[in-house]
Amino acid sequence: MLSHDLLVVGGGLAGLSAALSADPGLKVGVISKVHPIRSHSVAAQGGINAALANHPDGADDTWEKHAFDTIKGSDYLADQDAAELLCRQAIPTIYELDHWGVPFSRLAAGTIAQRPFGGAGLPRTCYAADRTGQVLLHTLYEQAVRRNVTFYDEWLVTDIILRDRKLLGLVAYDLAGGEIIPLRARAVIFATGGYGRVYHRSTNAYINLGSGIGMAYKAGIPLKDMEFVQFHPTTLYGKNILISEAARGDGGYLVNAKGRRFMEDYASKAMELAPRDIVARSIQTEIDKGNGFENEYVHLDLRHLGREKILKRLPGIREICLHFAGLDPIDRPIPIQPAQHYSMGGIDVDATCASPVEGFFAAGECACVSVHGANRLGGNSLLEAIVFGKIAGESASRYLRGGPLEAGGNREMAETARALMSRMRSVHERSAGENVFQLLNRLKRLTSDAAGIFRDAPTLRRGLEELAELREAYRRVFIYGTCGRYCQEMVVLVEFEHMLEIAEVILLGALKREETRGSHFRTDFPKRDDASWLKHTIITRADKGPAITYRDVQIGRYAPQERKY
Ligand SMILES: Cc1cc2nc3c(=O)[nH]c(=O)nc-3n(C[C@H](O)[C@H](O)[C@H](O)COP(=O)(O)OP(=O)(O)OC[C@H]3O[C@@H](n4cnc5c(N)ncnc54)[C@H](O)[C@@H]3O)c2cc1C
Repeated sequence: MLSHDLLVVGGGLAGLSAALSADPGLKVGVISKVHPIRSHSVAAQGGINAALANHPDGADDTWEKHAFDTIKGSDYLADQDAAELLCRQAIPTIYELDHWGVPFSRLAAGTIAQRPFGGAGLPRTCYAADRTGQVLLHTLYEQAVRRNVTFYDEWLVTDIILRDRKLLGLVAYDLAGGEIIPLRARAVIFATGGYGRVYHRSTNAYINLGSGIGMAYKAGIPLKDMEFVQFHPTTLYGKNILISEAARGDGGYLVNAKGRRFMEDYASKAMELAPRDIVARSIQTEIDKGNGFENEYVHLDLRHLGREKILKRLPGIREICLHFAGLDPIDRPIPIQPAQHYSMGGIDVDATCASPVEGFFAAGECACVSVHGANRLGGNSLLEAIVFGKIAGESASRYLRGGPLEAGGNREMAETARALMSRMRSVHERSAGENVFQLLNRLKRLTSDAAGIFRDAPTLRRGLEELAELREAYRRVFIYGTCGRYCQEMVVLVEFEHMLEIAEVILLGALKREETRGSHFRTDFPKRDDASWLKHTIITRADKGPAITYRDVQIGRYAPQERKY
């Protein structure tokens, strides 16, 4: 049986960062359902935050100011010690990446360039044009190859195997070989990214189905703050490809069908650079009021930036507009609408990335430490993935210094692999039933309708009822024809089970939280309520269904105040 000291699930920035920081003597494997450099991190555009104070307008920037912006942006739901750790570590992290060869854009003086981003008091987002994720991911991958990390590319992890709350290993489906394979490990780090495709409109890659979060939940590991879902304000109308915040950071305007820069009515100081929750809500409100184009979108206007700036700073955005909307933003405004973008919630871990299960760690978008609270600032997620990926690798290494491989896990692993194979066979043997892709579409619509930008109790309750019906339909799922190698139907079938759980936890958390905070806007409870709700939602899977508890937010030097921009 394949055996490792440490298995990292996920080849994005968090996973690679974790693998790179593991103790050199350990046998480390990275498993990814796609080739690592196709992980969703590659799509990140705008940049990564650190208070380097390179930009002339940000010369007095400090990590403390970065922490304050992050905590205020989070609507005070972030744990302040963790947010401070993130912002302090940002500075050495960027220099380490620079030394590893990340080709950051530069200022005339040769220092790393920085641009303004939403919710940030100063320009502190470091970038490589509008392809920051790509250069970061490629550099980290090169480093991992150099250090002889073992990669299992195109393997879908399907199960976590535990005994008495202690990790034994994993079971995976090798897509190319078409086989189910057990893997033993002394420790595991989940870095499986977000669940964007639980929603109908999302900027996320199609691979972002969220099964890592679902698997952890199934294994009895709690999920935290899952009701907080980020909707990005500016995605290309109809396609929902991201138009990075960098476009507004570099000076783009949001304009409604009446030709008005409407952000003046919602955030008169920060305007287009207010935090994402506020800008997304403002755009949706304009559309709902009838001030949008075709009742669907508003314009993001870059024309006044001029050809040279657009070509130099936003070449990828221009390409997206040319290829997917048939327009050149140098000459025409971009039609945009909000769409799901990021998961603030996730697997409940502490600031060392440890979970309540011995030997199980998580980092990156699938995890919730929590540094983003109720709303993440742009540029803080790449940072979180790399900083907490590294912390996870260090924590797992520390844990591994403690003991040998748990004896005798082979039976449990083989049983789980056999159960999965027999389930796949039985799904194949059915000659009729529900098509998994149709179920997936139903789920996406349901989640979007019930837990979108605006929420209320009746809609959330209805969503939960429909979800129960969908669960029933999933019992009748079948696969048409034969399915062995590279079977996407099988991938979705396995992941769909987890997506049902994720949707339920989002809806339930949203229904119970009777207040408005950050990205969670309840039209029936439109005010933030610190007295009752300055706390994290923790949901654990119990025999009778989801069990909800709450945990206090860690407050440090920044007392909660009203957010004004
Ligand atoms: C279009 C877009 C642009 C963005 N731009 C920015 C930006 O400019 N700045 C910023 O800070 N943030 C940005 N973000 C957010 C940021 O890119 C992500 O939050 C971050 O990259 C997530 O990294 P990760 O390593 O946690 O996950 P990912 O990069 O998504 O990697 C997840 C990995 O897990 C693997 N995986 C998942 N499930 C399984 C399974 N069951 N079995 C095996 N492998 C599995 C995948 O194959 C993949 O390798 C952007 C997001 C989007 C959608």
